[in-house]
Amino acid sequence: MGAQDTLSPVRHVIALDVGGTGMKAALAGAGGELLHQARRATGRARGPEAVVEGILDFAAELRAYGEERFGEPAAAAGVAVPGIVDAARGIAVYAANLGWRDLPLRDLLAERLDGIPVALGHDVRTGGLAEGRVGAGRGADRFLFVPLGTGIAGAIGIDGRVEAGAHGFAGEIGHVVVRPGGAPCPCGQHGCLERYASAAAVSEAWAAACGDPDADAADCAKAVLSGDPDAVRVWRSAVDALADGLVTALTLLDPRTLIIGGGLAEAGETLFTPLRAAVRQRVTFQKLPSIVPAALGDTAGCLGAGLLAWDLLDNTDRTEVTP
Ligand SMILES: [Zn+2]
Repeated sequence: MGAQDTLSPVRHVIALDVGGTGMKAALAGAGGELLHQARRATGRARGPEAVVEGILDFAAELRAYGEERFGEPAAAAGVAVPGIVDAARGIAVYAANLGWRDLPLRDLLAERLDGIPVALGHDVRTGGLAEGRVGAGRGADRFLFVPLGTGIAGAIGIDGRVEAGAHGFAGEIGHVVVRPGGAPCPCGQHGCLERYASAAAVSEAWAAACGDPDADAADCAKAVLSGDPDAVRVWRSAVDALADGLVTALTLLDPRTLIIGGGLAEAGETLFTPLRAAVRQRVTFQKLPSIVPAALGDTAGCLGAGLLAWDLLDNTDRTEVTP
């Protein structure tokens, strides 16, 4: 820390990404770079009040750390949370896995952080913001970010921001019905995309096909590479469903770049080569977007939270971030 003591203060913001099991935090500099990173458990077993207290404590500790290390406290904070989020009012409306309802998280944080500006964002849209500005969609004026994890969500990028929709539900491509009358989905419909093409759905299908209850989507991808016919069938069915859902989305949105992330995208070209072919096969008049893997991995949410915080301080330059 010695060298820092003699330098001028470093302007920075707090970035916090709250997940179902863990929280990732950072202090982010003006170019979005992460100056300091920390992680800790969300501790949802202790109940929603304790989770909120844990978030506020973590943020306050980061602010104190920043003041000591960089010579001034954070100028703003950005926080990404799962579930339904009303970003405009700063309210975490609902999160099934964390148990809160109508939580005024933005105001609680601002109060705890001595009144600095605080932005609250939806986890996937915030991650998408980072992928669009500083990750795989960098330079794309229109993009769609689709992480394939336990479920499937989406972030619609337009001119450097992410569209939330009138009620905060925009981008929910995982619940586009691709197999009418198909598998029931917890959302109440049948045949939703995420029942076929999420990492969880592929894991489930492969475990049933190979008879090993512990086999997952990554094992399926490996078996595809070795030419296992059952694995090829399971993988093909997921890729076809995904292509059906993505073509619906690109017909509506005409994105320049389609960014695919989450656990299933870790299969690399085992996913991307057949996926690009399947999308190409389905389009007629639509323009093909470039289909690329996400670049930021599990730091996307944290980087995006930092961008949200910087946007509060400087609204004049929303589309270009210089590292
Ligand atoms: Zn659904």
